[in-house]
Amino acid sequence: MKYKKITILLILLLALTLSSKAFALDNGGKDIEVYVNGEIVQFDSRPIIDLRSQRTLVPFRAIFEALGTEVEYDEQSRTAIGIKGDVVIKLPIGQAKGFVNDKEIPLDVASQIRQGRTLVPLRFIGESLGCTVEADNQSGRMVINIELIEEVKPKTARTVENIEAEVEDDAVVLDLAVAEGVNKVFTLSNPNRLVIDLEDATIDTEGISEIDSDLVFAVRVGQFEETVARVVVDLKQAVTYQLQQGKDSLKVTLAADKGQDIERDYNTIVIDPGHGGRDPGAISPYTGRFEKEFCTALAQLVADLLEDEGFDVIMTRSGDEYVSLEERVRLANSTNAFAFVSIHANSAPNTEVSGVEVYTKRGSDRTFARITADAIVKRSGQNNRGAKEADFYVIRHTGMPAILIEAGFLTNVQEEQYLYDPRNQEVIAQGIVDGILEYRDRVAP
Ligand code: ZN
Repeated sequence: MKYKKITILLILLLALTLSSKAFALDNGGKDIEVYVNGEIVQFDSRPIIDLRSQRTLVPFRAIFEALGTEVEYDEQSRTAIGIKGDVVIKLPIGQAKGFVNDKEIPLDVASQIRQGRTLVPLRFIGESLGCTVEADNQSGRMVINIELIEEVKPKTARTVENIEAEVEDDAVVLDLAVAEGVNKVFTLSNPNRLVIDLEDATIDTEGISEIDSDLVFAVRVGQFEETVARVVVDLKQAVTYQLQQGKDSLKVTLAADKGQDIERDYNTIVIDPGHGGRDPGAISPYTGRFEKEFCTALAQLVADLLEDEGFDVIMTRSGDEYVSLEERVRLANSTNAFAFVSIHANSAPNTEVSGVEVYTKRGSDRTFARITADAIVKRSGQNNRGAKEADFYVIRHTGMPAILIEAGFLTNVQEEQYLYDPRNQEVIAQGIVDGILEYRDRVAP
């Protein structure tokens, strides 16, 4: 068996090497490797990068099959079709659009036939199937990792059927509907979390995305190991806890750990330039410039202006280095900064779209985001797309008021030009600082 596998692999590798010459131009000289849950996908012809949109296109049969999707092709309408569970994806060849369950979605590149092979946009397919798609653009090669989340439930003695949170005066009581068993509970700091590992248990409930309390902001759940269910309580401050196990419930009472209150410093702020290093962010379809360059430049201008105003500015990265989202949050939560500001540029399939968006955590107060969006466009005259909510990691897990600024669209030809001009970056930076100062005036004691 082993020999056979190796032989097949060798033949495939040989085939890849041979075919790479013919397609070299389309790849911008890059080798493209696609992995699904860590396993490389073997294609019968090379994936390509569309030069205009910078999108990766891959042979449709191989990618659909690697994602556990049934494949069909409608000759009459020249449409590639993938079916998985109740999701139907359709990609008409030669048209810059796709359909997910018959909902039309505009794309910035068309599915196409090259050398007799049908190539389809990779990211669209991955994301339509609920996968995460991460591209790692290295010199000489592009590595794309797709995480496919399959729902496979192991057999365990216990099931966590429900989680409820009750907010009391200065405590939060979590009530887990789960049978008696072995539980491990521990706290983690930077950021503060309480972890409850339930052995021989399966999760069959959702977490709690938002809890209106000074102690806890969310409860997340997951299957930590095949037979260990994990409940993570995201905390806003350090806590003490008490457990009370009944026959069919586990009660966890959380109270503030008075010894460890964070006093916010209204002269300290965290500035988070988006992306960096091997993560380029969005790529301009017009000039090929990276979002990370824009983020670095704008964030530095903002930091300089804030320092002129007397702030201590903590940057999550300096220079062009890769810093994971977890590290950014951990750094922010280890400070006593009064606010966190993440700086990005936007992209959209529709190239007409332009303007400023400022995000805050879903379900939280939008004041900081609204003030900042207004302050930017007051200076820059850009289209104001306003305050929005999203669960971006860096604004979701930071313990202080946090916003993520999308300062404009790199996919809009005029705005892309505007954003990369250093003079305009100064204007936008001044707007961001206006917003931060106005917000501080409102919240500082
Ligand atoms: Zn970004």
